[in-house]
Amino acid sequence: KAKVEGKGAVRCFKRELEEEYDARLVQESELAAAIDNGEITVVYQPIADLFTGQVLCVEALARWHHPQRGQVSPATFIPIAENSGLIDRLGEWILRAALTRAAQWPSSLQINVNLSPQQLISGRFPKVLANILRETGLAPSRVGIEITENIFVDFSESVLEQLTAIKAQGVRLVLDDFGTGYSSLSYLQMIDVDGLKIDASFLRQLPDHKVEAIIRTVTRLTADLNIHLVAEGIENVMQLQWLRGNGIHFGQGFLLGRPKDDPPVEWLDNLP
Ligand code: C2E
Ligand code: MG
Ligand code: MG
Ligand code: MG
Repeated sequence: KAKVEGKGAVRCFKRELEEEYDARLVQESELAAAIDNGEITVVYQPIADLFTGQVLCVEALARWHHPQRGQVSPATFIPIAENSGLIDRLGEWILRAALTRAAQWPSSLQINVNLSPQQLISGRFPKVLANILRETGLAPSRVGIEITENIFVDFSESVLEQLTAIKAQGVRLVLDDFGTGYSSLSYLQMIDVDGLKIDASFLRQLPDHKVEAIIRTVTRLTADLNIHLVAEGIENVMQLQWLRGNGIHFGQGFLLGRPKDDPPVEWLDNLP
């Protein structure tokens, strides 16, 4: 009897796997079509000077408006793209859309775009970036490429060469979500980043003496390295005041402004 049940369980498990597999296939084909059907858009969130409220930069963030499912989070569809080989096409589309848009803004405003580690597998990204910079006429110094510590999971000579090629074009390199992933300080020696974004999870734990020590240490580290520090995920006035009091100058978060379709303003007028 146990044997029969066992077989049944195996069959049932197999069916579940197949269904899961099918569901993923549907999403992949839907995502491929979504790029062509205009269901993907890009929104822009301000990164501002926390003391003056000047918007220095915006981060481009991808959105998927699914005709049936509604809004699909990039936390869901970016991994689908990464696991299906769609990320090169999607990433190129987002980069072109964002840089085309940024070329219409005042030249004081910079733009950051997220890069998946998987976009460095083919080796073509630096060329794609160069082409888009040429097409849009955007000054490379206005562009930042945000990478995460995941880039170091499969770090290779090719990845290092591509990051160097990106920097050689005059584009900024920013280490995103700093402190969450495979953070090893030695990575800061290997690649020449222009800035760090300390992950929102740290700010969310304020006030707490350990987290305060960590943020202060990262602040000191970036100052000594002479690179920028951006605090991610500022949601309330307490967090903003703590950052100001501890000499952190730049930040991003819902308190300053949510990601929006519209070109951002040059100054935040509602900054507490
Ligand atoms: P990320 O690069 O760290 O982007 C910041 C995320 O935090 C965004 O989520 C943003 O909307 C959210 N955020 C900003 N301020 C606050 C705040 O005050 N509170 C909270 N709770 N959240 C805040 P979003 O747009 O959902 O994107 C999630 C992640 O998906 C991004 O994290 C990034 O890793 C990835 N992603 C988004 N767009 C792209 C893209 O075009 N390409 C790639 N490769 N990844 C992308
Ligand atoms: Mg980012
Ligand atoms: Mg981030
Ligand atoms: Mg983050």
